[in-house]
Amino acid sequence: MKSLWSDAEAAQFSGALGPRVYTSRLLGRDKSLVLHGGGNTSVKLREKNLFGEDEDILYVKGSGWDLETIEAAGFTPVTLGYVRRLAALPSLPDPQMVNELNTHMLRAGAPSPSVETILHAILPHTYVDHTHADAVLSVSNAPEGEKRVREIYGDRVAVIPYIMAGFDLAAYCAREFPRQAGKRTIGMVLLSHGVFSFGADARESYERMIELVSMAEEYLQRKKAWHVAPPPARTASAKRAEIAALRRSISDQAGLPLVVRVNDSAKFLGFAQRPEVEKLSQQGPATPDHVIRTKPVPMLGRDVPGYAKRYGEYFERHANAAKEKKTMLDAAPRMALDPALGFAAAGRTAKDTAIVEELYEHTIDVILRAEALGGWRALDQRHTFDIEYWDLEQAKLRKAGSPPLFTGEIVLVTGAASGIGKACVESFLKRGAAVVGLDRNPAITTLWKRADVLGITCDLTDAKAIDTALDAAVRRFGGVDMLVLNAGIFPSSQAIQDIAAESWRSAMSVNVEANLLVMQACHPLLKLAPRGGRIVVIGSKNVPAPGPGAAAYSASKAALNQLARVAALEWAKDGIRINSLHPNQVFDTGLWTEEVLASRAKAYNMTVEQYKKNNLLKAEVSSKDVAELAAEMCGPLFAKTTAAQVPVDGGNERVV
Ligand code: ZN
Repeated sequence: MKSLWSDAEAAQFSGALGPRVYTSRLLGRDKSLVLHGGGNTSVKLREKNLFGEDEDILYVKGSGWDLETIEAAGFTPVTLGYVRRLAALPSLPDPQMVNELNTHMLRAGAPSPSVETILHAILPHTYVDHTHADAVLSVSNAPEGEKRVREIYGDRVAVIPYIMAGFDLAAYCAREFPRQAGKRTIGMVLLSHGVFSFGADARESYERMIELVSMAEEYLQRKKAWHVAPPPARTASAKRAEIAALRRSISDQAGLPLVVRVNDSAKFLGFAQRPEVEKLSQQGPATPDHVIRTKPVPMLGRDVPGYAKRYGEYFERHANAAKEKKTMLDAAPRMALDPALGFAAAGRTAKDTAIVEELYEHTIDVILRAEALGGWRALDQRHTFDIEYWDLEQAKLRKAGSPPLFTGEIVLVTGAASGIGKACVESFLKRGAAVVGLDRNPAITTLWKRADVLGITCDLTDAKAIDTALDAAVRRFGGVDMLVLNAGIFPSSQAIQDIAAESWRSAMSVNVEANLLVMQACHPLLKLAPRGGRIVVIGSKNVPAPGPGAAAYSASKAALNQLARVAALEWAKDGIRINSLHPNQVFDTGLWTEEVLASRAKAYNMTVEQYKKNNLLKAEVSSKDVAELAAEMCGPLFAKTTAAQVPVDGGNERVV
């Protein structure tokens, strides 16, 4: 592991907290050190108060901030002397500890200080860095972990046995650290938890962390325990429909729609196929920092329906336990390993499942390296339970409030790279859905860079391409609950006698047949939607009121309209509802080039300006207006409605 320090970069961070912000970000950049809100850092500064008196202040990472992106505002100032005194108390319940920390902040509105704040306060150094480094965990969670840690570090670190994070750990360290620390001591290892480094300046503390973690890495390399991931013996065999069925089963048991993320890459699949994977994965987490999110599920089967059942039973047990303890069932995502599937994470949001996957990817490294040292030993189950129901964690979850409308649900939008489709992606994201966006424009793959959007380049007239796209969608999110059929083309205006056969065929192919293909491929998934499948068809004013010169477009949209009506008849029994929107004159879409606009205006004997305002309300209809209605049609407002056709056109004389 190399130091990432650069003088040029460091110079860009000014102010008293500048160096603290910079090296915190350096730690955050390396995922084998800290992941997703894990780890924390601090600095002790002496500042003048309003009365001109010197005050010693501990700036410590606040909750809700990630080291990788932290700013000065992410460090919460607390009164150092007071926090240090807390550590000397004979006992202090954790909720009261949190209260004391929160009432001794020096800036109103600062984030809650880390629950590990007292640990930072008791270390007598200006800068303190704390990580849950993979390499240190691999060593400390191997047999005779403590002996190995002492062998690696000698008197360079104090060694603390495993104690759950909170007041007891801080009080123990306050007593034990001075006893062990000598002249050469540059850190503190908490067994089965992580490592602290400290120094007089930001760079010294950071580079000592790098040094300590490198020593553990070199030890693993010497013991041939560094490169250890074996390739899978068999390829993954779970089918799209099986994954969607698994998700449905889990969601039913949870009583809420959940997102399921599957990873069958060589690393995950190889791990899932290890004969002893059940023993390895069921023991517990690598560090308490991971426990809430990677609680393993006892569901290792050889067949997908089998583990769907087991996963379901697990959720039921957890639900009952949650009721008794008055905790929240949906508090944490869950993960599973299966030789046929690889890895699966279930969670309320796509972001949660992505985090679980990343945490577990590091857990695999830690486990396999510890195995190579002679055997993996995780935190025992009792500790896991302690942490799971830990008052502090529960308090955090209670604060979260009620989630957006489509949390845990997945929508597939066609033609998502521009216009109404792009606006639909935004409208559904705003309501908490995970979104699969299909478009033939390759820009779709990079338009949104976030865990809850999967953009796939796809030619919808190609059934195989749709199949491949749905496989990817289901592996990423677990299913498709809602479908927005938006992709379409508008051939250039032609009188019927002049329509080229190719122009007619391509309108029919894209506007009708492609939608049929998507509907057919999605039907098994929509049937499995936890809240019932929903389809929204973006139709056209041309359905009720066709336009001269637009025969191919009008006829294709009318055919699509009939397709939707028949789907309402046939698929109602599958719990799927389908409704259509008929927009008109939505000028902020790709269809309305200057040329099309001019030719449509001409077809109605109007100027472009007259044509643009050609509706009863004289209202301009935007992509967003259409998208918002499309999203609402998938919500509870339209729960009792299917086969409806709603105009979004500002009112059109010929439609009224
Ligand atoms: Zn920690």
